[in-house]
Amino acid sequence: MPRESLRSKRERATRVLEALHDLYPDAATELAFGTPFELLVATVLSAQATDVSVNAATPHLFAAYPDARAMAQATPEAIEPYIKTIGLYRNKAKNVAKLARILVAEHGGEVPNDFDALVALPGVGRKTANVVASNAFGRPGIAVDTHVGRLARRLKFTSQENPDKVELDLMKVLPEDEWIFAHHALILHGRRVCDARKPDCEACTLKADCPSAFKVAPPKKPAGRAGGNTRKRRKT
Ligand code: SF4
Repeated sequence: MPRESLRSKRERATRVLEALHDLYPDAATELAFGTPFELLVATVLSAQATDVSVNAATPHLFAAYPDARAMAQATPEAIEPYIKTIGLYRNKAKNVAKLARILVAEHGGEVPNDFDALVALPGVGRKTANVVASNAFGRPGIAVDTHVGRLARRLKFTSQENPDKVELDLMKVLPEDEWIFAHHALILHGRRVCDARKPDCEACTLKADCPSAFKVAPPKKPAGRAGGNTRKRRKT
């Protein structure tokens, strides 16, 4: 099959975005937050966990530690009971305690409106920084999570697996003023229609513009790994 030109991809992306606007006119983050600090902490907690589990835990956590100055006083052990229902809570408790201390020491207790400063924080990678920069500060950005990556590959807007490379490819194909919307809409479409295992291509209104429609192969079984999971955990 001939390689698709960037121009053709952009035309397809325009039609995909129109369909996504029809489907999800109010697409926004499903994480509950009131301040940039709450959003930053909630996003760090949401790595490899559901937004529902994070939203169930954060009201109690933020009642006890409403801002960076309050959380900077807490030990990870003091934070753990509030987030015990969220996966990887021990590591996350360490990260948010350290993160709060850095916010106080280096940023006057505020979340920096600066992408490079955000990714320098513990537990904060490009995805988290993009979520915070776009939702708290309105900066254009595409946070690539598992849904956005899968949709981008199925729609053939990228062939990359690395989220940072997927982000760069999407930035070339999608107009900048659609980046924030596209990120939220692709997550919703991934959750509701384009499932990782069983995408509902029949019902999908993107199918006319999706090269993968009705072609998604069932997932391969992961090969067994002796000695448990030894993968290095990357910042998200
Ligand atoms: S047509 Fe199928 S593979 Fe393509 S986006 Fe829709 S559900 Fe996903």
